[in-house]
Amino acid sequence: MSFYYGEQNTNQIAEAIKKNSVIILPIGTTEEHGAHLPTETDAIIAKYTGDQLGKACQEAGIPALVMRTIYYGFSMGIVRKWPGCPNIDTRTFMDYIFNIVDSLVKEGFRKIVLLDCHGNHDCLLRTVMREIVDKHNVYIMTLKPLGLASKTYNELKKDPEGDIHGGEYETSCILHIAPELVDTSAYTNVDAIRCNTILRGPVSTWGLQETKTGLFGDPTYATAELGKAVLESATVEGLKYIKAYYEHNEQSEV
Ligand SMILES: [Zn+2]
Repeated sequence: MSFYYGEQNTNQIAEAIKKNSVIILPIGTTEEHGAHLPTETDAIIAKYTGDQLGKACQEAGIPALVMRTIYYGFSMGIVRKWPGCPNIDTRTFMDYIFNIVDSLVKEGFRKIVLLDCHGNHDCLLRTVMREIVDKHNVYIMTLKPLGLASKTYNELKKDPEGDIHGGEYETSCILHIAPELVDTSAYTNVDAIRCNTILRGPVSTWGLQETKTGLFGDPTYATAELGKAVLESATVEGLKYIKAYYEHNEQSEV
């Protein structure tokens, strides 16, 4: 049986609500990722991870429905200097996601997972999470594939500085999911990360080092094997979180 929300009829949706099914909403964006990756990179990773988690939930006997991926979102102006960034401003994006979640909760869903696959969305989606709590007293969850797979990624990555945008991690993921979309002849390491100081984190990395090509990382380290390992790990770890969330009933403060 399909695990896509949009492929259910209204009776099947009603059944899913009765089972307290988990809703998974993959959220990517479309923005430039240099000359070697497609602009939909984040959305491709979001869709793939959502699909894998949908399959994993089905196999584990956890009722779950996967929504269609969000393909457009917010990108900071610094990446919009390059073509390929149809942009949604922060407040419109938050209202859009809030409206989707708000209506799902009004339908009767109580367990909603936002699969966050784009760095600029992190605080926006967690703000939506808090607004939903205030309105409905329903606690939704945010998960990030790279966060879920961080142990595997840190063990296997070759770039000592890691990846911010279009480097080893993202390129490896697309080499695994859709290798035909990667132009390996366009790899460049001119924007390899050089700013690995204590400021990375407290200050936006985009402000710590000037990007020449719209990248922030080194794709020359990327391999399909790393992409496969990281995405598999994200599914295994993500399933643990979704299972715990599905089984958790006690209301608690976050
Ligand atoms: Zn990206």
